[in-house]
Amino acid sequence: MVELKDVSVTYSSGVDALEHVNLKINDGDFAFVVGASGAGKSTLIKLLLKEIDATSGTVIVNGYQLGTLRKNKIPELRRTIGIVFQDFRLISSMTVYENIAFVLRVIDSPPKLIRKRVPYVMSLVGLQEKAHAYPHELSGGEMQRVAIARALVNDPKLIIADEPTGNIDPELSYEIVELLRTINMQGTTVLMVTHEHELVKRFGGRIINITDGQVVFDEIMEGTDYEI
Ligand code: ADP
Repeated sequence: MVELKDVSVTYSSGVDALEHVNLKINDGDFAFVVGASGAGKSTLIKLLLKEIDATSGTVIVNGYQLGTLRKNKIPELRRTIGIVFQDFRLISSMTVYENIAFVLRVIDSPPKLIRKRVPYVMSLVGLQEKAHAYPHELSGGEMQRVAIARALVNDPKLIIADEPTGNIDPELSYEIVELLRTINMQGTTVLMVTHEHELVKRFGGRIINITDGQVVFDEIMEGTDYEI
């Protein structure tokens, strides 16, 4: 669950990146966050990961009150969140399997769990047969599916997808959003930042529009291809 209560962020340069934002994303929700470049979307993501702090207001993520969260608890918070980036951020010297397993290895997960969980998330994203491929042998859509599997492997409560379709062909973009929707239907909360209005229109659902640091629209819209 994500909750922002009257949150403002002012950078040291004096820029007000977010102003009096109130937002609640319940467990199990799927929401698109849309807005022009410079609107404050990245600031919102950084806030949720506690990469930056709110200048005022309260931020709660998956039960953690970020304003009072001690530094040594930040990794614990971040383990409840899976992140998918526009540029995939896969490790080029590692296979698909290793890219995903790596997340569990760094937190010292038992090898037995790794051997079970990694194939499972690979099958969720439909990439079992690519386990031994390297990132350069994959298409953009496949790379993003690896990144989604990697975000999922630690069973996070929340997935934040930051422009996940930004480097992918339009038809494959649709598949990526469908995959995120499927993951959401299995119980993971998904927050997808995008400026691809066409995609958002096709899927519909909850749409949060941030303009000049403010939430100017937050409603559930009917999609052209999907029923809510
Ligand atoms: P978006 O992700 O929607 O493009 P950002 O959250 O990156 O928007 O930026 C919101 C506003 O804050 C913009 O005016 C941007 O120039 C400013 N901004 C972003 N990061 C910083 C920073 N580290 N220092 C100062 N200003 C920043």
